[in-house]
Amino acid sequence: MSNINHDLYKSFVLFDSVYRPSKFSPTINQPVQTQVSSSMESNGGVDESSRLLNELNDLKDSKRDIEARISVIEAQLQQIQSNQQSNQKPSSNAAHDLTSDSVYRYSRQLLLPSFGVQGQSNLLKSSILVIGAGGLGSPALLYLAACGVGRLGMVDHDVVELNNLHRQIIHGEAYIGRSKVESAAAACRSINSTIEVVEHKEALRTSNALEIVSKYDIVVDATDNAPSRYLISDCCVLLGKPLVSGAALGLEGQLAVYNYKGGPCYRCLFPTPPPTSACQRCSDSGVLGVVPGVIGCLQALEAIKLASSVGEPLSGRMLLFDALSARIRIVKIRGRSLQCEACGENETLTREQFQQFDYENFTHSPLSAAPLKLKLLTPDSRISSKEYSDLIENGSPHILIDVRPSHHYKIVSLPKSINIPLASLESRLPELSSELKSVQESNETLKGSNVGVYVVCRRGNDSQRAVQLLHKNGFTSAKDIVGGLESWAHDVDKRFPTY
Ligand SMILES: [Zn+2]
Repeated sequence: MSNINHDLYKSFVLFDSVYRPSKFSPTINQPVQTQVSSSMESNGGVDESSRLLNELNDLKDSKRDIEARISVIEAQLQQIQSNQQSNQKPSSNAAHDLTSDSVYRYSRQLLLPSFGVQGQSNLLKSSILVIGAGGLGSPALLYLAACGVGRLGMVDHDVVELNNLHRQIIHGEAYIGRSKVESAAAACRSINSTIEVVEHKEALRTSNALEIVSKYDIVVDATDNAPSRYLISDCCVLLGKPLVSGAALGLEGQLAVYNYKGGPCYRCLFPTPPPTSACQRCSDSGVLGVVPGVIGCLQALEAIKLASSVGEPLSGRMLLFDALSARIRIVKIRGRSLQCEACGENETLTREQFQQFDYENFTHSPLSAAPLKLKLLTPDSRISSKEYSDLIENGSPHILIDVRPSHHYKIVSLPKSINIPLASLESRLPELSSELKSVQESNETLKGSNVGVYVVCRRGNDSQRAVQLLHKNGFTSAKDIVGGLESWAHDVDKRFPTY
């Protein structure tokens, strides 16, 4: 294969996954104590504000329900009217089946010589399934609905959260806590009530994929994890559906069309899954909202080209987008592999095998966005966030090392913590020793007893790795805080910002 290197995996397998903090506190990057807000004037004020808040939430709920109902009724009405129109005799002798409303609605597309009436007509007869209503799925769904795809399906099991909104632009604040599919469907219907919008409020699994995907002509993979990519690609091979696959992470994105007219499938290109270390997600690595926006738009474009039989699809090629340097490159990728286990000459993949295949095991990575929970330490090397909070209250002399990367530390941190990122911990152990010494000296009462060493990170995985390293280097009393800052925010200080 030509220009593809292993770095492709880095952003290809992921992005856009969703991790959910339980609460979001609006004050960030400020000392925690000062956040205890000055708005706590009196109980009367608090009661009144919570009453107003409840009333506001109730009204927002009602508004959202009414809007959703309006969009459904408008869609039904429009459907009836357009059926009536198509039953009427045409008022012109045009050689196409577009209603006069459709001609007007899609006129700017009809004016394109290369697209025209035939392209629109093809589009209106087509059906497209978008898997994932997140950062990629948002713009893809909006454009596919707007341009007049006849039947538009969407699959997602997740709910809308506040930290989705910077990139998942199909959802609004009113839908926080509600199904993404419900939210996306309402948005699509409000843009175009003349198309059929189909909601699949479930996760795509081997048990339901064949049934769902078989109902559509074209599939758009807008998911964010390795097992889903293989699952969707295999399913498309089995059912003979073209697949528009996109990925975005950080400031980079990628796009390709698979399984199209003898072209390669995802497995042809990546017969073995990437190492799990290469499978980052947005919830860990971050993503600038507009980057999946760009790739999602390009996915919509490729899907429209396929559905309308216009242009040259991005098959056998891959588009690489680098936002920072404003570069888009197209690289040639290998063709269909004869050895491919899904689509090769001696391919053995059957529906039964597909349904029994363990994609999570194959890729060593979970289908869901649930964060990893490591267990590397024995319980006596760990304390809970509550225990750590008691320890602060009792004034126990100790040092707290925060092993997150410095750009995480800048978002929010615990008071008096020392930031030594995990990657540099080993080389900065002397710093730790001298810090310990100075705490020991300033607490004369200690007389030989140990100053506690505690380690914290975001979720309690890296802190365990750090404690293992500290134990190995003689800091045998080091302990980590179970669940990291997220457990602190959950169990100790609800105002502590999560991210
Ligand atoms: Zn293949």
